[in-house]
Amino acid sequence: MNNFADLHLHERLLKGLDELKLTKPTPVQEQAIPLLLQGKDVRAIARTGSGKTAAFVLPLLHYCLENPQRIPLHRALILAPTRELARQILQEVERFASYTFIKGILLTGGENFKEQIAALRKVPEIIIATPGRLLEHISAKSLDLAEIELLVLDEADRMLDMGFAEDIQKITDLCVDRKQTMLFSATTGGNALREMVQAILTNPEHLMLNKVADLNESTQQQIITAESEQHKQNLLKWLLENETYRKAIVFTNTREKADFLYGRMEAAQVKVFVLHGEKDQSERRKALERFSQGSSRVLIATDVAARGLDIEGVDLVINHDMPRSGDEYVHRIGRTGRAGEAGLAISLIDHTEWNLMSSIQRYLKQQFEHRVIKGLKGGYMGPKKLKSSGKAVGVKKKKTTDKAIVTKKTRPTQHKPKTLQTQTENSSTDGFAPLRRRKSE
Ligand code: AMP
Repeated sequence: MNNFADLHLHERLLKGLDELKLTKPTPVQEQAIPLLLQGKDVRAIARTGSGKTAAFVLPLLHYCLENPQRIPLHRALILAPTRELARQILQEVERFASYTFIKGILLTGGENFKEQIAALRKVPEIIIATPGRLLEHISAKSLDLAEIELLVLDEADRMLDMGFAEDIQKITDLCVDRKQTMLFSATTGGNALREMVQAILTNPEHLMLNKVADLNESTQQQIITAESEQHKQNLLKWLLENETYRKAIVFTNTREKADFLYGRMEAAQVKVFVLHGEKDQSERRKALERFSQGSSRVLIATDVAARGLDIEGVDLVINHDMPRSGDEYVHRIGRTGRAGEAGLAISLIDHTEWNLMSSIQRYLKQQFEHRVIKGLKGGYMGPKKLKSSGKAVGVKKKKTTDKAIVTKKTRPTQHKPKTLQTQTENSSTDGFAPLRRRKSE
């Protein structure tokens, strides 16, 4: 493999990398950096933890160093879906630019608007922004995107998931003079992402660095079956108290569930923090800082809140709720087993989640280990009969009898769990988990 020195980066950047003791580029860096240095548009599929931030930050810095301007200008714009991810990108810019005079600025919501305007007046070269706050600055005329030369869309798939499609279109239209555009996503995305790639990039080079099936090599994946929500909570408490781990993230599908679990764990004397989209900025930052620094080892989070976070030392992920798609599962599990370290992913599965779990297994082409915790076994161990796909064989409807008609009339839905029914109907046979509308994250 190449060393950074072979990638022909500016010597000030090599000096910085040397000081950070980074010598070997990661695969995404090795592939993307040469293309970006040639000025090509690039669309790359690479997950958080792959070194993708440096893959676009180093070429941006290189460009600014190689093409100095006489007057100060904003030269590069990086758009990111969440404040936390934007902050992490700024940290990377500052780390790699330590031997240069290049400056970055963060424009994200939840921070003082006037202070951001004052900082913009110093004309930092690199702007890192979330779409909403950036548009507020554009409305307030505190910056002009016409001078932007390089544009990066980081985690574009997630920005689309979060409903930023129109905002991104508006922003990219305003970058009229841009010379180069880079789009990074963790997944291949759907039609909306394909349309965005077509509309925004010019003759892009495509890099595919995520092969779903080999994403989790260093992470052991287990399921534990649960008979009820209460049983899941007992299992969660047991795992947090008895597993060996440095840091754990517990994922829920909704904010309400995250808050609920937080209350339950606190009541059970298990120290946890919670992070979701409804927390205000200072609460989110506090929870994250405590988690990163290690004063709390357990974070309960929704997918949106945990998206893109690069927290070192997370070696346990628990899916209290099964994620709703194979890609979402990959994102969650991507938080463990980073850089070859061992990780453990445990999904708690009740009867409504079995088929979803089995779709995800097939999507990943991996088999999860079925673990049983002694003393907490519960009454549900999976479906009695399985189809060859691994899904549950549906219970055949009994012939209608008079008794059945009476039961049906008086108690129409009592014996049919609604979620199981919906899930079976939506489950696809192509190995992809069904897409469902998110409640709230
Ligand atoms: P990212 O995928 O951008 O979130 O990066 C994940 C982590 O890997 C960050 O902490 C980076 O600083 C780190 N990193 C980036 N490039 C390298 C490299 N070439 N070697 C080792 N670590 C790296």
